Amino acid sequence: MADEHAEIFKNYVGGQWLNSNSENTYEITSPANKDAVLGSFQISGVDDVSQAVDAAHSALASWADTPAPARAHILYKALEIMGRRSEELAETITIEEGKPISDARGEVRRAMNIIEYSAGEGRRMFGYTTPSELPNTMAYTVRRPLGVVALITPWNFPIAIPAWKLAPALICGNTVVFKPASATPLSAVKLVEIFEEAGLPPGVLNLITGPGSSVGNSLVENPKVSGISFTGSTEIGTGIYSAGAKLLKKVQCEMGGKNAVILLSDADLDKALSGIVQGAFGSTGQRCTATSRAIVEEGIYSEFLDQLIDRTAQLKIGDGLDPDVDVSPLSSQYQLDKVMEYIGIGTEEGANLAYGGHVLSDGDYSKGYYIEPTVFTDVTPDMRIAKEEIFGPVLTVFKATDLEDAVRISNDVQFGLSSSVYTRDLPQAFKYVNTVEAGMVHINAPTLGGEVHLPFGGLKASGVGQREQGVEAFNFFSEVITVYIDYADEAKAPANFI
Ligand code: NDP
Repeated sequence: MADEHAEIFKNYVGGQWLNSNSENTYEITSPANKDAVLGSFQISGVDDVSQAVDAAHSALASWADTPAPARAHILYKALEIMGRRSEELAETITIEEGKPISDARGEVRRAMNIIEYSAGEGRRMFGYTTPSELPNTMAYTVRRPLGVVALITPWNFPIAIPAWKLAPALICGNTVVFKPASATPLSAVKLVEIFEEAGLPPGVLNLITGPGSSVGNSLVENPKVSGISFTGSTEIGTGIYSAGAKLLKKVQCEMGGKNAVILLSDADLDKALSGIVQGAFGSTGQRCTATSRAIVEEGIYSEFLDQLIDRTAQLKIGDGLDPDVDVSPLSSQYQLDKVMEYIGIGTEEGANLAYGGHVLSDGDYSKGYYIEPTVFTDVTPDMRIAKEEIFGPVLTVFKATDLEDAVRISNDVQFGLSSSVYTRDLPQAFKYVNTVEAGMVHINAPTLGGEVHLPFGGLKASGVGQREQGVEAFNFFSEVITVYIDYADEAKAPANFI
């Protein structure tokens, strides 16, 4: 039932907060309390998208002409405001998305790091000079913005993922239309407020909320949009990548994962257990880099399993605002139904449900989308729970004969985002690095995370197009132009003309 007292949040277009043309809105509630309405948001349509793209297009020439160090001043200002509002942002993430407050604080920190890093790039934005093959000729490269870019983001990192697209896009001189996930528009509104307060000129950043199926499609297809940066499921990303390619747009898609940890018998078991439990159940398994498979060498399998179950049983489940909680609710009824469906599939496929597997509905749990952290053992690579992304607190455990067997199991999925090995054996570790199919590889550390000055992204069905973060981000959000200057005072003989 609609809550008539819910605050109505608007789109941000051309520097103004506006209702959608239809004036239709939808409400969101908190994953920890289905009765707590957090606000009403615009259901935008195709005409709202055109308006936002037009606003971004009108602002483009002036923003592209603004010197990059001057663009950086606005990013530094946004960084300062974000620092001031960081606790409010973290609480918003927890209330809206559900993750524990410590994870939400980490997410805000990550967003701040990327803004800081991108602002610094305002004084670099390097091209390069190189000797020409011709006499009296200078050859060098410069960067230009792509133009209007569309940023389409998921719900699981509602501040950090938009920030790690937005900051490099802005510093490179692009103007932006930002379409956040329908489940987490409040975090998006707050992020945009920060950039507005920082002094971003009208039209440089525009926010449109509403269903991806209509808003997202028309953004991708709009002829004034030159680049698309998408993070979300492989299914939607594949559609966006092919639609963008047909229109010859620059597209990057960061998508699903089925990340595995390999545990070899010689590893520090205590360290490995901490990493695997944190990777599998932290943020309720709803990180793209979450650990969803543990592939364990035979010699250590039984000991690992006993201790894994012990540690899993000690995790505290509850509202993410409680600082002692380890596992908070799933983000929505949809996510809960999907994860429970996979738990049913795993049981039917013959895997052993070694721990958890139930919805929690007693007392305060009845208010939110809670399930137990869940462990399946006796999982074989052909099972659906071994191959498909579940995106919840479900760990599947495999037995492997040796490293080679473990890497074969690890690679036997369509995804290739993040991966990890625990071992003290250096040659084995390097063999792993050289053969595992993943865009991010960790040794003796969880599958999680990454640093903002290093590339982030996956292989195979986990990622396509240029990587995000690190210098790759600036390569994606700019075009490289090659310049030749003939400064000879007389005509040259033609040479090697293509
Ligand atoms: P979705 O693919 O469902 O949605 C992602 C975004 O795309 C949302 O804003 C969504 O809008 C929008 N969208 C939906 N349909 C279309 C369309 N036809 N055209 C354009 N845009 C559309 O993903 P989730 O939000 O459920 O996020 C979870 C997924 O994200 C997981 O698979 C996870 O692995 C992946 N992910 C990957 C990361 C990586 O770096 N590789 C990082 C984080 C998450 P709406 O919400 O309105 O449907």
